[in-house]
Parts: sequence; structure tokens; C-alpha cells
Amino acid sequence: MDKAVKHITHWINGKPWTGQAQRQGDVYDPATGQVTGSVDFAGAGEVDAAVAAAAQALPSWRRVSLARRSQLLFAFRELVRQHAGELAKLITAEHGKVPADAAGEVARGVEVVEFACGVPHLLKGGFSENVSTGVDSYSIRQPVGVVAGITPFNFPAMVPMWMFPLAIACGNTFVLKPSEKDPSASLLLAQLWAEAGLPDGVFNVLHGDKDAVDGLLTHPDVAAISFVGSTPIARHVYETGTGNGKRVQALGGAKNHMVVLPDADLDRAADAAVSAGFGSAGERCMAISALVAVDPIGDDLVARIRERVGALRVGPGSDERSEMGPLVTRPHRERVASYLDSGVAQGATLAVDGRVHPVIGGSSDGFWLGPSVLDHVTPAMSCYADEIFGPVLSVLRVPSYEAAVRLVNSSPYGNGVAIFTCDGGAARRFVSEAEIGMVGVNVPIPVPMAYYSFGGWKASLFGDTHVHGTEGVHFYTRGKVVTSRWLDPSHGGVNLGFPVNS
Ligand code: NAD
Repeated sequence: MDKAVKHITHWINGKPWTGQAQRQGDVYDPATGQVTGSVDFAGAGEVDAAVAAAAQALPSWRRVSLARRSQLLFAFRELVRQHAGELAKLITAEHGKVPADAAGEVARGVEVVEFACGVPHLLKGGFSENVSTGVDSYSIRQPVGVVAGITPFNFPAMVPMWMFPLAIACGNTFVLKPSEKDPSASLLLAQLWAEAGLPDGVFNVLHGDKDAVDGLLTHPDVAAISFVGSTPIARHVYETGTGNGKRVQALGGAKNHMVVLPDADLDRAADAAVSAGFGSAGERCMAISALVAVDPIGDDLVARIRERVGALRVGPGSDERSEMGPLVTRPHRERVASYLDSGVAQGATLAVDGRVHPVIGGSSDGFWLGPSVLDHVTPAMSCYADEIFGPVLSVLRVPSYEAAVRLVNSSPYGNGVAIFTCDGGAARRFVSEAEIGMVGVNVPIPVPMAYYSFGGWKASLFGDTHVHGTEGVHFYTRGKVVTSRWLDPSHGGVNLGFPVNS
């Protein structure tokens, strides 16, 4: 193997795996187009080894006191903060997002660790004395067992941290299958867990593709699956996982609308549309991809957006001037760019063509595509119907508030939505009427804090529970209610009737 190409392998039972992989994948630096890493792909044997390590660690880990778990989480939190710059560098090198954006995702991940530090409080149950005379009842929440987390390329640190801090805090053991496109951040997180003192086998990292995922989905010793990725794979994970008797939460793709009412502050709306449309090159599940301008502001809003987009600095993360990096792979870049041609062929106007946007200080082999705006888009066009997941903002014009709500609610996706207006009554009505999991009012990317739960509706989530917050605690635990009586002189002999209170 070329010395410049880094070898990336699994982390099983507290150390790097030492076996010989049957298959490997290339990892790229998207800013140069060069292969920088080779990642081992797990087959059935490696899946078994990782799950066995997690299963073996489970009985003792679930008995570790809440105080000790909390201490380990605090230690891990400190280490992640100390290594935040290093994590961000790994993310930029393999994903392509600019350093400030990479640092932002690490910070949002740390917030979930901080939430999980409060696990003693989060797992407090209820207690009722004398539910019947001399009988007490109480509720407890217990870990589900071995949990597998399967994550997408676009947040290689934050999305795994949506899952494992809370799963581990709740007494489960964990196997993470990160995206094969940017696998290095997860390994640094594994090393930091080990440094914090987490027992071997509680946190494992398994690299790979469909074989690794399907191995986890069908493994008899995996109790629950948290998945984040595209809708077709989320559906596959949900159906296969539940078909194999597992608890599954599978977060899918998105098409997020930003509705701008005529009374909105158009400069602020334009700033927000550009930030939320092109941050991280549009490779965010909460990115705004459909801008809905309510008549008559469309032309004015598009003019303001065009002005701002022209000034965006596209370039590599290694250049501190860069505000937007490349796309993650060449095939993804080609697919995203193809929507510009198909949009125009289907009747849209190309208001800004990102293919001709200058790239500052970048290699010509990088996976570059500047920010693009398609105007006069209609719901029938593929650039609207499909999740593009790149720096392409589609602008749709609608005649009224009601038409905007109909459009938003007709989307098969239901991840995020935002409304921009100065009218509190209209905003309040929109919050109530939008059939979407996360709603922003004059906030374009309404990502909930760690102590609320993140998740969409409809084709953006399969399963019942969202991630982190209280719903995360519920997903990673099973409820149990105990009814107990200790013998006292009043205990009353045989009774074949159904238990009733007395
Ligand atoms: P993806 O669905 O291609 O991959 C996600 C994970 O599934 C990866 O670990 C991958 O290895 C695995 N995978 C891919 N193909 C598979 C297959 N055929 N069978 C089994 N496993 C498979 O997603 P991606 O391209 O890495 O990430 C982008 C997608 O993730 C977008 O659709 C985006 O909207 C979505 N996403 C959603 C959220 C959310 O919160 N809803 C958050 C981030 C990203």
C-alpha cells in the first residue's frame, strides 16, 4: 500500500483490529480529488467479533453505577473538547467542509455528551407508595442491550454523537458503523473513550458498506438500531431490523422548505436562505433546498440572494478564506450538477450557475461545484421532487400563505421547515399547521438542542422515537414497573380474583 495512503481499520474490544480485510474502500480528500486513505470493510467475521465484544462487555457495564458512568462521560467530554481541533481537521480532510463548519459539528456533538452526563437524573423512575394497602409500585428504565449505530457521511462526528453517548450512559454497549466515506473521526472518538477509561468492548467501531450494515441488522445479539442516512436505506434498515425483531429508529432524507411571507424582512430572509442553502455545500439534512416565495416578493428576493451568492468564497478547508468546500465525492458532484441541466430542461430558470463559480486556491481535481439557484421551479420538476443534497437552491413562487402550507405538507418528507415573517399570528398558525418534525420561525435551520429530540415526520423518519433528548433516553431503555408487597401481619391469603386496589 502507498505510504501516503492511511490505513483505517475497525476498533473492537478497546483496540484496533489486527486481522486482514477481504475488502477495502478508498477515502478521498474532496478538495484535491486524491485518495488519502484505505478503509477496511467488515464481512460477517468482523461483524461477529464487534458484536461479541459488545455483548461480552454488556453484563458488567449495565451494572456500573450511574455516578461512575457520569464521571466517564465528563472525562470523555473533556477529551473531545481538548481534541476538537484534531477532530475538525479529520472531518475537513475526508468530508471537505470548511474548518469552522467542522468545529461546529463537534461542538453540537459535545452538547449531547453534556446532556448524557446528567444520566442519573435522566434515569430516575417514579414511585408510588400504597397503590393498594401495603403494596408499592415503582418504575425503572433498563438498557436494551447491544445497540448498533449506522451513520451518514455528512456529519462524521456529530451524528454518531447523537447516538452513542446516550446509549452508553443508559447502560448499553455500542457498535458504530460510520460512513465509509469519512471514517477517521469515529476512530479518534474511540481512542478518546479508551483514554477516558471506558471498559473495553463498550464502544466499538466497525467500518464497511452494505455487508456490514446487513450483518448488524440480522445479528441475533443486536437489540436495537439507530440509523441516520437517506430515505431508501432508512426504509431498508427499518424493515430489515424490525423484521429481525429489533427496535429501530431510522432517520431518512429531507427536502426542507423556507417559506417567505410578503411582510418578511427580505434582507434577513436572503441572508438566511443563502446560509442555510449553501452552508456545508448543502450537504446537511436540515439544509434549505426549497425556497417558497409568497407573491409578490419572488423577484426581489431572488435578486438579493443572487447578490449574496456571487460573493461566497468557495475553496478548500486548508485556505482560511473559504466559506464553502467541495462535495464529498466525484459521483455525488456529478449527480448534483445534473439537476441544473434537468431543471432547465423541465422549465426552470438558472438564476445562478455554480459550475462557473470561481474556486479560490483549489486543486482542479477537487470535487467542486459552486452555489446554484434554480428559479421558477414547480413541484413536478425533479430538482424539487428529489433530495439533491448539494448546493442547489430551488425557488418556487406561490400566490398565498395557504398555497405555501399546501406545498410544504404535500412533500413526502417532513424533516425541517422555516417561515420568515414579521406577523406573529401567521407564524403561530404555521407552526400548528406544518406537518413537519422541526419548525423554525425566522430561524432557517431549527436543529433542536440536545435536551430536545431531533427527528422528522413522514419519509424523514421510520420508527416512533426521535434521537437524543427524552425520546433518546426512551429509545435506549426499556420500561419496567415493579409492584411489591412485603409481608406484614395484614397479608391476606389466597384470592383468585383479578388484582384490584384495596
Ligand atoms: P446513505 O443512506 O447512503 O448512507 C448512510 C449509511 O448507510 C452509511 O453508513 C452507509 O454505509 C450505509 N449504506 C449505504 N447504502 C447501503 C445499503 N444499500 N444497504 C445498507 N447500508 C447502506 O446516506 P449518506 O449519503 O451517507 O448521507 C446523506 C443522506 O443522509 C441524505 O439523504 C441526508 O438527508 C441524510 N441525513 C439525514 C439526517 C436526518 O437527521 N434525518 C441527518 C443527516 C443526514
